[in-house]
Amino acid sequence: MTLTVLFAAGKQLFNSYQAPLEQAFHMHGLKVHLLMDAPPEQVDYIIYAPSSALQDFTPYTACKAVLNLWAGVEKIVGNPTLTQPLCRMVDPALTQGMVEYVCGHVLRYHLGMDAHIHARPGDWQPVEPPLAQERSIGILGLGALGLAVAQALGRFGFELHGWARSPKSVPGITCHHGPKGLETCLSRAQVLVTLLPLTQDTENLLDARALQRLPKGAALINPGRGGLVDDSALIAALDSGQLGHATLDVFRTEPLPADHPFWAHPRVTVTPHIAATTRPNTAAQVIAENIARGEHGQPLLHLVDRPRGY
Ligand code: NAP
Repeated sequence: MTLTVLFAAGKQLFNSYQAPLEQAFHMHGLKVHLLMDAPPEQVDYIIYAPSSALQDFTPYTACKAVLNLWAGVEKIVGNPTLTQPLCRMVDPALTQGMVEYVCGHVLRYHLGMDAHIHARPGDWQPVEPPLAQERSIGILGLGALGLAVAQALGRFGFELHGWARSPKSVPGITCHHGPKGLETCLSRAQVLVTLLPLTQDTENLLDARALQRLPKGAALINPGRGGLVDDSALIAALDSGQLGHATLDVFRTEPLPADHPFWAHPRVTVTPHIAATTRPNTAAQVIAENIARGEHGQPLLHLVDRPRGY
């Protein structure tokens, strides 16, 4: 049987994904018509990006699953017309990208690299540099990305605290959960990394109260979602010195508007949502494997829990 797979993620991405997907389908023994347009009632699977024009899933009566190209699903999870199973993207190359982004910025803070980069002749004051075991890092979210980041940071020897929704036991990480656990995790985080999905439970999680829990002068790295942080509270915490610096990759409005105070703030580093992107070669394998599982009656991987929102 030949499957009809609709690529609902735009022409530009189609050009990058077509060859890797066709190769991956072949490797998984799948016969597929990969199309950018097809009669809705004939579509078996939809490959989706939140920027897609497709917003009404009602006519896709035969569709067995929607496969999201991004890890975050906040723009599609609440769509009332989507009754098909929704899978998010867990791509090993995306994960590797996130590990590199976060480790780079953690080491930058840990080693005080900004001061060295901007050093002038009068700044010749040799001090003993810190070692990783003297620094504690907090990671909010211990999923595919948070856990990989924690494990990479663990190899340097940092003291690690993580926070997730469910209780966890992970060697080398002190795992917390629940409201009290969040307070403890924040209070230990000299560098705080947010790798949570944006849901109704996590929106504005980092408000003035939460930021106050951090050790004075802590640094924040947010490659999760802009809505996790209360922007005004963050600026106030930076201005008061409660927070030493913030590296932000994601924002409530993207691109970040030119007049947004983050651009001009001396203690903010803005990166343009580049922490980690889905890579066609590896993502195509993940998608093909999931379609093969669907066709063989096996459970789909990376299924989104709709009520939970991630
Ligand atoms: P994931 O595997 O679904 O992990 C999410 C983690 O957050 C889990 O540990 C989960 O706890 C925890 N969590 C969710 N809701 C919570 C709550 N209310 N309280 C406490 N913990 C909660 O997601 P992921 O693949 O790691 O991705 C995380 C996020 O990164 C994505 O949703 C996306 O927003 C962002 N992202 C950004 C970029 C970028 O380039 N900037 C790229 C990819 C992804 P449990 O383990 O208990 O379920």
